[in-house]
Amino acid sequence: MSVGTPAIDRELPLAELLDIEGFREVCRSFSELYAIGIKVFDSEGNKLVDVRASNSAHCGYLYTVTPTQKLCTELVNHIRNVELKPVRDIATVNCFSGLRYKIVPLVYDGNLHGRFIFGPYAPEDLVGPPPALKKHEARGLSLKILDDHLQKIPRASEDTVAKVLDHIDKVLAVLIHTSFRQQITTKLHVESMGGAFEDLERTNREMKKAMEKLRDLDRLKSNFIATVSHELRTPLTSVIGYSEMLLEGLAGDLSGEQREYIKTILEKGESLLNLITQVLDLSRIESGNVLMSWEEVDIRAVINLAVSDVLPQAHKKGLTLAVDTAVEVDPIVADRDKVRRILGNLLSNSVKFTRAPGSIVVKTDVHQLPPQDPAYDIFEPERNRYLRVQVSDTGIGIPRDKLDDIFNAFYQVDNSSTREYGGTGLGLTIARNFAHAHRGRIEVTSSEGTGSTFVVLLPYRADRMLDSVAMEILAASRPGPG
Ligand code: ADP
Repeated sequence: MSVGTPAIDRELPLAELLDIEGFREVCRSFSELYAIGIKVFDSEGNKLVDVRASNSAHCGYLYTVTPTQKLCTELVNHIRNVELKPVRDIATVNCFSGLRYKIVPLVYDGNLHGRFIFGPYAPEDLVGPPPALKKHEARGLSLKILDDHLQKIPRASEDTVAKVLDHIDKVLAVLIHTSFRQQITTKLHVESMGGAFEDLERTNREMKKAMEKLRDLDRLKSNFIATVSHELRTPLTSVIGYSEMLLEGLAGDLSGEQREYIKTILEKGESLLNLITQVLDLSRIESGNVLMSWEEVDIRAVINLAVSDVLPQAHKKGLTLAVDTAVEVDPIVADRDKVRRILGNLLSNSVKFTRAPGSIVVKTDVHQLPPQDPAYDIFEPERNRYLRVQVSDTGIGIPRDKLDDIFNAFYQVDNSSTREYGGTGLGLTIARNFAHAHRGRIEVTSSEGTGSTFVVLLPYRADRMLDSVAMEILAASRPGPG
C-alpha cells in the first residue's frame, strides 16, 4: 500500500481483490479436468496460481540438460513478459520443444489485471520432438527420453483449446467481476459512511457553537437582570423608607385617608421589593455568583427574625404562628442570611396559603439520617447529623402530583389568571438552591385541604469549600426533587 493512500482509493492487485483460495481451487479443477497446467500472474508479475500437470516430467527433463535449460528460462521469461493489451486477445507462445502455451489477458473494465497461462499442451500435428533439438544430443539430450515424456502430454486441437479457454475465461470473468463489484460496494459504503461522519462532525461543531452562544446569552441575561434589579432596589427602598417615615408622623399628622394611601404604597412597595430580591437571587444562582458567608448560627434567633417578618401578615389573616424550640439544638455553621431567606420563603408561603382559623408551627430538632437514606455516609457517620427545621401549616395543601413541580422556577399550582394568592413562583426554587448550597435539602409532605409540612435539613458537617464555584455547579444542575 502506498503511504498515505487509504486502502479504498487505490487499485487493488488481483491477489487482494480475489478470494485467492477459491480462485486457485477453480484453476486446479480446470487443470485436473484437462490434465494441462495453469499459471496466473497479476499485473505486477506476482504468481498467484501454479498448477502443474502432465508436463512436469517433460519440462523437468529439458531443464536437466544445459543447452535446453537456457532455452527453458528464456521461454518462461517470454511467457511472463510477452506484451498483452487490455483486450480479450489470446496470445500463442510456441515452446522450442514443440509444445504450446496460450496466454489469456485478465481484463476488467478496460484494465489489464494479469495473465492466465494455459499449457503446455501438445498441438494436434506434433508427432515428436522437433528435429532442431537433435543438435543438443551431443550435449546429453536424449530425444528418445524426451519423446517418451512428450507422449504423456495431452494432445489438443486448436479448436478444442479455444473452446476450453473460452469456458475458463467466462468463469474467471465472473469471479473477477464479482470481486470488483464487492470492492465498489465497499468503497461506496465507506465513502457514504465517511460523508455521514463528516456531516455529524459538522453538526456537532455547529451545535457546540450554538451552545456557547446560548451560554453567553444566558450569562448576559443574568447579568442584565442582576443590574436592573439592583438599580430598581435602590429607589424602591427610598419609597418604602419615606412611606414608613410618613406613617410614623415624621412629616406631620396624616388624615385617615392619607394614611390608607401611604399604607398601600408601603405594602405594594414591599411586595415589589420582595419580587426584585427573588429575581436577583435567581439570577445570581444561575450565573454562579452566589457567595456563601459561613458563620456560627443560632437557629432560634434566625427563626425569630423570619417569624417576625411574617407575623403582622399572619395576625392580619387571623392565623396563629407558634415556634416550638422545646428540643435544644446546637448552633450550626451556615450562611445566616440564606437560612433566614429559606425560612422566610417557607413561612410567607404558609401564611399565604392558609385560611383562618389556621395555624403555622415552626419546629426544630436534630435528625440522624437513617442508613437507607441515599445521602447516608458510611465512612464518616458524623456527617449524618442534620439540623431539622419544620414549617407546618393547616393550609390548602398541595396536590400529590404537583409536589415535585413546586420547586421549579416560576411554577405555581394555581397559575390561572384569576390567581388569588399572588407571588412569583420563585420562592421555593431559591430556598431549595440555598439549602443545596449548604449541602442540605428541602422536603415536603402535604395533603390537599389539610395542610403542608416543609422540612429543611442542614448538615452539621458541611464542606465549607462550597463557594461560588460549587454554586455554579448547583445552578447548572437545576435542582430536581430531593
Ligand atoms: P410563590 O409562593 O411565589 O407562588 P413558591 O415557589 O414559593 O412561589 O411556591 C410555588 C407554589 O407552591 C406556590 O404557588 C403554591 O402553589 C405552592 N406552595 C408553596 N408553599 C405552599 C404551602 N405552604 N401550601 C400550599 N401550597 C404551597
